[in-house]
Amino acid sequence: MSSALLYTHDPRTGHPLGGYPLSDAANVGRVAQQSAAAWDTHWRHTTTVQRAGALQAVAAAMRQQQQAFAQAEAADTGKPLAAAWQEVDGAIALWEYAAALALTRQGENHTQARAGGMALTLDEPIGPVALIVPWNYPLITVAERLPFALAAGCSVVVKPSELAVGALPLLAELLASLLPEHTVQFVYGQGPEVGEALVSHPAIRMVAFVGSTRVGRIIEQAAALHGKRFAGELGGNNYVLVAADADIAVAARAIAAGLLRNGGQACIAGNRVLVDPAVADALLASLPQAMAEHLAANPLQPMITLAHRQQLAAYVDQAESAGWQRVPVSQVPGDGQFFGPVLLDGCHPDSPLFHQEIFGPVLTIARVPQAQFVSALQQSEHGLALYVWSANLTQAMQLARQVRVGRIWINADPTQWVGGLPVGGFGASGLGRECGLQGLSAYCVPKSVLIG
Ligand code: NAD
Repeated sequence: MSSALLYTHDPRTGHPLGGYPLSDAANVGRVAQQSAAAWDTHWRHTTTVQRAGALQAVAAAMRQQQQAFAQAEAADTGKPLAAAWQEVDGAIALWEYAAALALTRQGENHTQARAGGMALTLDEPIGPVALIVPWNYPLITVAERLPFALAAGCSVVVKPSELAVGALPLLAELLASLLPEHTVQFVYGQGPEVGEALVSHPAIRMVAFVGSTRVGRIIEQAAALHGKRFAGELGGNNYVLVAADADIAVAARAIAAGLLRNGGQACIAGNRVLVDPAVADALLASLPQAMAEHLAANPLQPMITLAHRQQLAAYVDQAESAGWQRVPVSQVPGDGQFFGPVLLDGCHPDSPLFHQEIFGPVLTIARVPQAQFVSALQQSEHGLALYVWSANLTQAMQLARQVRVGRIWINADPTQWVGGLPVGGFGASGLGRECGLQGLSAYCVPKSVLIG
């Protein structure tokens, strides 16, 4: 390892935070080999009861240190502490869920498939996994994958983002004290150096990636080139559909909360609204107050970098030049990396602007008759999250069946979720499913055995 350190920054002030040992390609090579050795000599041979016990112990230790975890998660991501605290809660629940699932690991037997013989499938762990995660939800994106990979019997090398590592260094310490040596390791550094070295290392058998569509596509190709399994959850540009019979006051509050969480820097943020013209004025009238109330209770998070803030400002300029109208909303101080919420009405659903990921507190609204909702969604290359507001559950369910979207909320907001449900996207939002039984299977390979 080089002696250099990776520093992240507090996006509220720009001040540098704790330094983490910066890896280089040689170090990544050693770590990958250690991971393979730990997997082959120990972790793959542990029993499901041992794995479940270890995952449960991790969850319990995180619970004991919840305040420290929340503070660390908030420090370089810029999250309010209360939001970080909830995130730690969600992460603990996923470790507990994976611990329970670990006990269900079993293959299949086919005792009656062949007269006088027997066939069975062995459900094997795929091997050492590289887990590459983004800056915006470090602890949750890891918790959606790491405990499931461990439950399957894989060893894992985690690469946090160079922009924010959140509570991952704390998690790394905790795992080093609770799991056999090298079962889980962390490498810090820039994506194109450290991430690429990890993806291409022959000891790594699978790459699980969470991040932008652009980087996901690069990694997917590299994984294919090296014959590795790839699971990627990528960028989102998520629709909110508001039908004529929706409860507008409830929808407006949920839309505001869903947009402003994490400063809009959430892959599942509902940032583009299609509203039936019959209720469009009512929705537009409710949204500014809903946003103001949300911000009074939950301070807005800064943008992760100044460059990202500038991109958002440029997006809004382009939108206004295209004739989209800015509706006044309560402002937060726009200093430094802070960027106040923007509400844009009269957006054109066919415009390329409407189809690019925003990743900030900007809500675009297009007035579209509800009969055209499905065809509008079918033009979207993203398919990560969808929010439907309608009193007609039958129609909402029919719509859910028709669209290519991985996670769908009907009359609910993104804070309402169940940890065991599989997550993942379609199209530009990725492939593969994590969490729940499908998430565990993602890290397994069946072997078929015939006994004569
Ligand atoms: P990013 O794609 O820039 O980086 C993600 C990770 O990939 C980082 O750890 C980075 O260092 C690494 N990386 C970059 N180039 C690499 C390369 N060539 N080889 C290997 N690794 C490389 O994403 P970000 O800016 O950290 O996060 C924001 C993006 O993540 C948004 O697009 C957001 O929608 C997406 N995201 C998706 C989900 C989801 O579940 N679908 C969740 C959170 C964030």
